[in-house]
Amino acid sequence: MGLVTLIGNTARSGGDQAWHDRSVRNDHGAATTSAELRAHNLARLLRAVHDGGGQLTRAQLTRQLGLARGTATVLVRDLAGRQLIEELSSPADAPAGLKVPRTRGRPTGVPSAHPRGPVALAVDLRDDSFTVAVFELTGRSTVLDRQEREAVSGTGMLADVAARLKVRRREYGDRVVGIGVAVPSPVSAGQMVQPTLPDWQDVDVADILGGADKCYPGPVLAGNDATLAGLAEARRGVLRGISVALHLHVATGIGGVLLAGGLPVTGAHGSAGEFGHMPLTGSSEPCRCGSTGCWELDAGARGLLRAVGQPEEGDRMVRAEQVIAAAATDRGCGQALLRAAEAFGRGIGALVNAQDPEAVGLSGLAAEVYEAAPAAVQAGYLATLMRFRRPEPPALLPSTLGELGALTGASELVFDAFLTARGLGGWPEEKTA
Ligand SMILES: [Zn+2]
Repeated sequence: MGLVTLIGNTARSGGDQAWHDRSVRNDHGAATTSAELRAHNLARLLRAVHDGGGQLTRAQLTRQLGLARGTATVLVRDLAGRQLIEELSSPADAPAGLKVPRTRGRPTGVPSAHPRGPVALAVDLRDDSFTVAVFELTGRSTVLDRQEREAVSGTGMLADVAARLKVRRREYGDRVVGIGVAVPSPVSAGQMVQPTLPDWQDVDVADILGGADKCYPGPVLAGNDATLAGLAEARRGVLRGISVALHLHVATGIGGVLLAGGLPVTGAHGSAGEFGHMPLTGSSEPCRCGSTGCWELDAGARGLLRAVGQPEEGDRMVRAEQVIAAAATDRGCGQALLRAAEAFGRGIGALVNAQDPEAVGLSGLAAEVYEAAPAAVQAGYLATLMRFRRPEPPALLPSTLGELGALTGASELVFDAFLTARGLGGWPEEKTA
């Protein structure tokens, strides 16, 4: 999918189609009748409330969307009547006593998530554990379940995920408008095409968890965990408002995504961003992926473990974090950290040369390595940057979302589909309290 199609095909640009929905193209849902115009404006307003994190007043939203004041009043009343929002006198998480700005002497309300409004269930699937969280509109979240892998097989683990989701779906009932799943594999045409667990090969997670007889009949949307971590940064984190950003997420391997206008550029089949499998640091050894000389052999968890001479088995993330923690006191660990950090920086410089981002987001182990050895990362980074870029190198920005990154991205998949005229059409017109 070309960049132009991708951007032109999104809810955020005013169309009626979510960026990740490849089923229909060029369906911009142009509003022609007054009912369509109203549905379109309701979706725009709710989208703006969601994107603003429940911090914007009605007056600010009205200005941002270029609506007439009377129109905005009617739209807010409609959304409130459908229990999609409630208007508060100040942001839900504001410190007590904070006053919202007044417009022409009158107080203006803050449209916020309704306590009985829509929610997205989000799953962060890893090969050794999974986490389930619930997200309201505006991004407010609660982690519901964390479970270490008990099942022997990957198939058994997906059955455990389905069982937890079934319980949570019963709990939240009709409020659930979709399930988003972050998976630890490149995803192509919905399938995990190169997962770490053999029995996940070519598995379509959305298909396994969704469907009438399964845990949820509504939309189930899956995406690569590193891509979704980047999407989360663009929406709620350090890459918010940045025109072209590169995001790097390091777990066992190194993944990431290029974001243009806040939207992931995911390639023709959805599997772009496998930066860890590029020969950026000069090695020529074979990699588990089938290629040779991959960056992740020298940087990330694999690079750290190889640098201290530890086997690449078991829980590599935990052991890599132990190496970082011991770096200050253990000479071998200290040297390994510096080596992996420098290799990480060199790869970033090469990617910046290729893609010219405004900033680079770092999450997972990438943020931990950068915080533990910033000088080594920076030295590698500046060494590989082309000369003309060095006076003003794009900033390296460690994530502040922590463990919520991939979960937040998964929830945004669901809300991107819901916050359209078509998505809102599935929510009841009027609700009785
Ligand atoms: Zn590789």
